[in-house]
Amino acid sequence: MKQWVKKLVDQLDMDWGHSHSEQGAKKTDSPALSEERATIVYILDVYNKNLFEIPRHQVRKVRAKIDTYAKEIVHAPSQDALNNTLFNLRQFISSYRIDEYSFVQNTIDDFKRIIWEFADHLSEEVSQESKSQVDLDSSLAQLREAVESNSVEELRLKSREFIDLYLKSQTSQNERRSKRMDSVKKNLNSVKKQLMEANQTMRRDHLTGAHNRRSYDEQVKRYLQLNELDKDPITLVMLDIDFFKKINDNYGHDIGDFILQECVRMLQESFSREEDFVARLGGEEFAVILPGCDADAAAKICENAMAKIRKEVFIHGEHQIRFTVSMGIAPLIPGESADNWYKRADGALYESKTTGRNKYTIATANSAKKVA
Ligand code: GH3
Ligand code: MG
Ligand code: MG
Repeated sequence: MKQWVKKLVDQLDMDWGHSHSEQGAKKTDSPALSEERATIVYILDVYNKNLFEIPRHQVRKVRAKIDTYAKEIVHAPSQDALNNTLFNLRQFISSYRIDEYSFVQNTIDDFKRIIWEFADHLSEEVSQESKSQVDLDSSLAQLREAVESNSVEELRLKSREFIDLYLKSQTSQNERRSKRMDSVKKNLNSVKKQLMEANQTMRRDHLTGAHNRRSYDEQVKRYLQLNELDKDPITLVMLDIDFFKKINDNYGHDIGDFILQECVRMLQESFSREEDFVARLGGEEFAVILPGCDADAAAKICENAMAKIRKEVFIHGEHQIRFTVSMGIAPLIPGESADNWYKRADGALYESKTTGRNKYTIATANSAKKVA
């Protein structure tokens, strides 16, 4: 079996018909999985990790459904069974994609509507202003005619009319202006608020409130640019809850969700400096960026975080739950790409996972070095 397929099989920790339920037990060999099936399972896994909440589709339910398809694809006993699963999967994905697309489209439409309303409002103001300008122009033209007519009476009448109109137009212009300023301010505030809310939901993980993958990608880009200038040490920590699947299996998905929230709370408490950045990259995988920390400083904070999580008993109803995490710590090598940095941290995390879990590993320049 190809290496990446094997890694995928290990990562997904699917039931391959062998027993490996003991904590820390070594997995028995997985059955061969064709590259085609593994590719579909891989795509489903990526899709699964990047789901977002949309009306009528709870992330958890969609995830469970996709997990079921992935399992059916792996275990389909015949080509017919596989075709049948693939048919159902195509149906499901196409209808789900339509809902996903409509949700995004509606959000964009909402913004367009706000901008249109704003523009409409402004153009109405401008047209009112030009209407009063037209009245003023015509009164001025009449005044000119009166001057030319040499009639004192006419001149007095027209000049009084013009002055009245001018003063009125000035007052109403001032009133309109201050009214307009108020309404522009109100409009802008509401647009700003909505933009901020949208920004927040776009960059936050809906379940835990941590930054999401998108926010992580943006932040990493910023830090890499900054590092080119300041050369300060900065460390990336990849973190994954150990045996999380068992928590779901033993206590149900709601408690699994609760543990994810609690995990983020603990991480935010442990990595609590203002510049520390905690993101949920998907499932039960997190990234923490520690600016100003070299490997040793990061390892010290990570060790404390792990000890804190290890000790804590999480209570949900009658259940008392404990869990541990594994970590991969990668201090940035100046000039390396975001992808390389991530891969080194992820490699170090993988090393922690395959050598016992509940520990951290510090990545070296090309590979992961075991530490504690
Ligand atoms: P390991 O120690 O190797 O990390 O094993 P694990 O069981 O923690 O990891 P694995 O990647 O096999 O399982 C992760 C599980 O997390 C599978 C998936 O169903 C579940 N999961 C992913 N996202 C969520 C979520 O938002 N809520 C809940 N309750 N479960 C989730
Ligand atoms: Mg895990
Ligand atoms: Mg995982």
